[in-house]
Amino acid sequence: ATPTSVMVGTGKGAENGILIKGAESLELAHQIQIIVLDKTGTITQGKPTVTDFVTVNGTANSNEIQLIQLAASLERNSEHPLAEAVVRYAQSQEVTLADVRDFAAVAGSGVQGIVSHHLVQIGTQRWMEELDIHTQVLQQDKERLEYLGKTAVWLAVDGEIQGLIGIADAIKPTSPQAVKALQKLGLEVVMLTGDNQRTAESIAREVGIKQVLAEVRPDQKAEVIKSLQAEKQGSTRKTQHSIVAMVGDGINDAPALAQADVGIAIGTGADVAIAASDITLISGDLQGIVTAIQLSRATMRNIR
Ligand code: ADP
Ligand code: MG
Repeated sequence: ATPTSVMVGTGKGAENGILIKGAESLELAHQIQIIVLDKTGTITQGKPTVTDFVTVNGTANSNEIQLIQLAASLERNSEHPLAEAVVRYAQSQEVTLADVRDFAAVAGSGVQGIVSHHLVQIGTQRWMEELDIHTQVLQQDKERLEYLGKTAVWLAVDGEIQGLIGIADAIKPTSPQAVKALQKLGLEVVMLTGDNQRTAESIAREVGIKQVLAEVRPDQKAEVIKSLQAEKQGSTRKTQHSIVAMVGDGINDAPALAQADVGIAIGTGADVAIAASDITLISGDLQGIVTAIQLSRATMRNIR
């Protein structure tokens, strides 16, 4: 595209809350074939709240308060959005937090540490299984929560499951319309998340996404983009490999955003995600992607 048409395109983008870094991404956006959307903070609002606190011994006893204290004390040391939700929940219950020793975070899995002389571990079922902690006890509760699109996080104390935390993160109201518009443009829309399959599928149903890649570890996200890029689309030389866009907000998403042909960051997301991207949606409204593609089309039409 000519410098003038690029300037016009980026200018119109900025007016619509879409920051486009270079000419290249503006030129490429109309060719996107596959669009990969991160779940938490991209499709959803990224403001998770604890809705359920299930304990093995039933609810509303002093044991529950103690478990909330152990969980929130540990999570106070984590920067994960789910961790913040647990801490806020404890604060709303006026639970005072304790100090933590030997805190460790395992990306994509959970956190652990020593709280009040107990080993406390919080995270995914897969991680609990890797730690040889049996999760049968609250299996039905887990399935119920996940079916509702909530993330079920396991709480183990001294190597035994004591509770399950249900955390809800509502979708952005504009996400379903944006997904529909992208599909209408002929794009293949894919959800990519570290969260579990059932929760991911529930959210995908809500927004109209059919293809879900769940339980993907942070270090695998870029690889997933690579393999989608390798997918063949049609037989002409020009379309041999797929042009893939990735949309994300998290630190975890940065390598995938960099790997994608077009990386699109959510403006309210992590700085590294924005730095790794070509385009930033300032307000985080996914309908900005549709606008960016339309701008790209118009820009290229002007020079042909
Ligand atoms: P996403 O791709 O949805 O941002 P992550 O890869 O960061 O997810 O984490 C995947 C899963 O690991 C989370 O859904 C959660 O179950 C678990 N997890 C990670 N960190 C924590 C934490 N600090 N507290 C509780 N669970 C966690
Ligand atoms: Mg995210």
